[in-house]
Amino acid sequence: MVGVNQKSIDELRARLRGPLLVPGDSEYETSRTVWNAMIDRRPALVARCLGIADVATGLRFAREYGLPVSIKGGGHNVAGLATCDEGLMLDMSLMRGVWVDPQARTARAQAGCLLGDVDRETQVHGLATALGFISNTGIAGLTLGGGFGYLTRRSGWTSDNLSAVDLVRGYALVACNDEAERAVVGAVGLGSDLVAEPLHPASERLPVSLAPEMDPVPDLTGRPQRIAHIQQAVENVHIGHPLKILA
Ligand SMILES: Cc1cc2nc3c(=O)[nH]c(=O)nc-3n(C[C@H](O)[C@H](O)[C@H](O)COP(=O)(O)OP(=O)(O)OC[C@H]3O[C@@H](n4cnc5c(N)ncnc54)[C@H](O)[C@@H]3O)c2cc1C
Repeated sequence: MVGVNQKSIDELRARLRGPLLVPGDSEYETSRTVWNAMIDRRPALVARCLGIADVATGLRFAREYGLPVSIKGGGHNVAGLATCDEGLMLDMSLMRGVWVDPQARTARAQAGCLLGDVDRETQVHGLATALGFISNTGIAGLTLGGGFGYLTRRSGWTSDNLSAVDLVRGYALVACNDEAERAVVGAVGLGSDLVAEPLHPASERLPVSLAPEMDPVPDLTGRPQRIAHIQQAVENVHIGHPLKILA
C-alpha cells in the first residue's frame, strides 16, 4: 500500500468507531471473505463500520491516499466486487439494525442487513417487502441491482419499493429521498447506508404459497382446493406502491 505509513493507519483506527483490521488480525479472514470462494482478494485495510460516520471517515482516508475502495454488504456479488486487493474494504456486516414503522408501513434497515434480518423484523407485524429468495443475501447489493424475489410480481422490484437512502458522497451525508436521487444511487453505486422500504401485509405462509403461482407446476389437475388456497393467499397480499407514489 504505497504512501500509507503506520502512523496514518493508527490515526484512522482512532477516528473509527468500529474495528480496523489488517492482515493477521483474527477477524480479517472472515471479513474479507465473500460468497464466491473462487475470489481471493486481500484488502490492505478492512474497516468494520458501525455507522455513517465510519463510512465517511473511510472514504475520506481512501481519497486522501488514492486507495481503491470496496464495500461489502452481504458479500454475494459473484464477481467479488465487495472486496479488493491492496485497498480499503468497508465491511458493513456489523450494521444490521432494522426499525419497522407498522403504521407507515415502512422499514429502515442498515446497509449490512441480510434479507432474513429484514424479514424477521417485518414479520413480527405481519408485513413484508419485495426482497430476494435467499435469506443470507445482502439488502444493499440486492437493491442496487434491482432485486427480484417472491413478491416481485405483485410489488415490483426491490428498488421500486425503495423510498429513501442515506447517501455518503465522499465527505458528506446526503439525504436521498426522491426518484431522481435514487437513480443516482443506482448509477454511482455509493451509499445506500439506510434503506426504507414500503411493506405489505403478508400471510405467514406467503413465500411457500406464492411459489407455485410464480412458477406454475404443469400438472395441477385434481388439486382445485390447493389452487383455491393459493389464490386466496395471493389475494391477501397488498399490491405494492409504484415508484410514482413514493417519489
Ligand atoms: C446465493 C445467491 C442468491 C441470490 N438470490 C438473489 C435473489 O433471489 N434475487 C436477486 O435479485 N438477486 C439474488 N442474488 C444476486 C444478488 O442480489 C447480488 O449478487 C447482490 O449484488 C448481492 O448483494 P450483497 O450485498 O449480498 O453483495 P456484495 O457483494 O456485498 O455487494 C454487491 C455490490 O454492491 C456494492 N455494495 C454493497 N453494499 C453497498 C453500499 N452500502 N453502498 C454502495 N455499494 C454497496 C458492493 O460493493 C458490490 O459492488 C443472489 C446471489 C447469490 C450468490
